[in-house]
Amino acid sequence: MDSTNWDAIIIGAGPAGTTTAALLAEKGRKVLVLEKEKFPRYHVGESMMPFCWYTLNKLGLAGKMDEIGFQQKHSVQFVTTDGHVSRPFYFFQHDDHPSAVTWQVERQVFDQMLVEKARENGAEVREQQKVLETLTDESGRVVGVLVEDASGERSEIHGEIVVDASGRDCVVAGKNRWRNRDPELNKIAIWTYYEGAMRDPGLDAGSTTVAYIPEKGWFWYIPMKDNRVSVGIVADRDYLYRDARELSEIFAREIGENAWIKKHLETGEQVGEFWVTGEYSYRSNYCAADGVLLVGDAFAFLDPVFSSGVFLALKSGELAAEAIDKALQNCDTSASQFEDYGRDICVAMERMRKVVYAFYQEEFSFGKLVKMHPELRPTLTDLLIGDIFVDKFDELFEAISEICELPVELPYGHRVKEAAVAELPS
Ligand SMILES: Cc1cc2nc3c(=O)[nH]c(=O)nc-3n(C[C@H](O)[C@H](O)[C@H](O)COP(=O)(O)OP(=O)(O)OC[C@H]3O[C@@H](n4cnc5c(N)ncnc54)[C@H](O)[C@@H]3O)c2cc1C
Repeated sequence: MDSTNWDAIIIGAGPAGTTTAALLAEKGRKVLVLEKEKFPRYHVGESMMPFCWYTLNKLGLAGKMDEIGFQQKHSVQFVTTDGHVSRPFYFFQHDDHPSAVTWQVERQVFDQMLVEKARENGAEVREQQKVLETLTDESGRVVGVLVEDASGERSEIHGEIVVDASGRDCVVAGKNRWRNRDPELNKIAIWTYYEGAMRDPGLDAGSTTVAYIPEKGWFWYIPMKDNRVSVGIVADRDYLYRDARELSEIFAREIGENAWIKKHLETGEQVGEFWVTGEYSYRSNYCAADGVLLVGDAFAFLDPVFSSGVFLALKSGELAAEAIDKALQNCDTSASQFEDYGRDICVAMERMRKVVYAFYQEEFSFGKLVKMHPELRPTLTDLLIGDIFVDKFDELFEAISEICELPVELPYGHRVKEAAVAELPS
C-alpha cells in the first residue's frame, strides 16, 4: 500500500494523461501517473491538427517539436478515386500564426516527450503499472485505484481524484458500462507503414492526404520523417472483408481502388506488420462521477478522419487540469465540480462530429460545399484546424444541411454521475 495521499492519480501516460499531469504538477499538485506499458511504446494517431499548438505551447513544448525534427505538416488535401486532388487547405493561408505549421509525429517519441515534461514539472510517472479497477468508499465515491506491477504484485493507492486517461481501454467507462457506440460511425481501420513511397514536392511533402475508395471509405497517407509513410484504410467491415480475410490481401486490393494512392506507393516498400482495429466512435454516458474524471479517448473517441484525436486528448487534459485544480482549491472533487468541463468538451466534439458525419454521406463533398458557399471556406477551415471551442459554426452547419442530413446531438457525455460508481451495473 502506497501511503502517500496523492492529489491526483492518473491512469495512462498518453497525451491526455500526461497533459493533465504536467499542468497539475506545475500548479504544485502532487500527481501520480500509472502507465501499464514500458515507454517508449508504439501508438497509432500520428497526424496532428494546428490547434494542438496552443496546448503544446502552454506546456512549453511547441519549440521542442521542431527541435526533435518531426515532419512539418502545412495542409490537408482530398483525393477522389480517379486521382483528382482537391485544392489543399493550407493552414497558413487561413491564419498566419505559428500554429499553422503542425506535425506528423512518431507517437513513441511524442508521448515520451510528454512523459518527460510531466516528470520535469514534478509528477511521478510509474511505468508497467496496470490499474485493475477504481476503489470506492462506502458512499460510492472513488477514492483510489488497485494497481498491479510487472511482477503481478497488487497494491492500493489513494488520492483526492482519479483521472481516467486510459485511452480506448476505457478503464472506468468500460467497467461501468457507460460506453455507447456512435450509431452511424462504425468503421474499421487497417494500416501499415511504407519506406521510400512518393512524396509531393515542397510544402506538400508533409501534407495529410485523405484519398477516397468506393462506398465512402478512405485511405490516410501521412508522410513522416526518415522517408516513412503511415498508410491506412478506414471503411465498413463488410466492404473490406467482402472477399478476403488476410489484412495484406485486403490492403493490396484497395490500393488498386485509388489511382493517387497506387501511384504514390509504387516506389515504396511496405515494412513491418499490418494493424487492424474496430475503430468505431463512442462516448461515455458520463464525463465524471464523485472522485473520478474522464479525459481523452477514455471519455470519447471520434472517427479519426480529421485527425482530431490527439488534439482532443491534449485539450481535454488542459481543461481537466484547470477543473481539478479548482476542485482541489474548493476541497470538493465531487462530480458536480466537473459539469462545465463535460459540457465544453461535448459541445466542441459535436461540432467536429457533424462534419465527420457529413464526410460519410454519399451526397456530400467539400468541393460541393465550397462551390455553393465560397464565403464559408474560412469557417470550414476553422473547424478543420481545431478551432472548435468557439461558437461560430451555425451558418456552416446550415449550409451543410442543404446538402445532407446532420446527426442529432448525443444526449449524454456532458452529464456527471453524482451517485456511486459502485452502484452502477457492472
Ligand atoms: C486507426 C486510428 C487512427 C488514428 N489516427 C489519428 C490521427 O492521425 N491523428 C490524431 O490526432 N488521432 C488519431 N487517432 C486517435 C488517437 O490515437 C487518440 O485519440 C489519442 O491517442 C488519444 O490519446 P489518449 O491519451 O486519450 O489515449 P492513449 O494515447 O491511447 O493513451 C492511453 C494510455 O493509457 C495506458 N493504459 C491503458 N489502460 C491502462 C491501465 N489499465 N492502467 C494503466 N495504463 C493504462 C495505455 O497503455 C496508453 O499509454 C487515431 C486512432 C485510431 C484508432
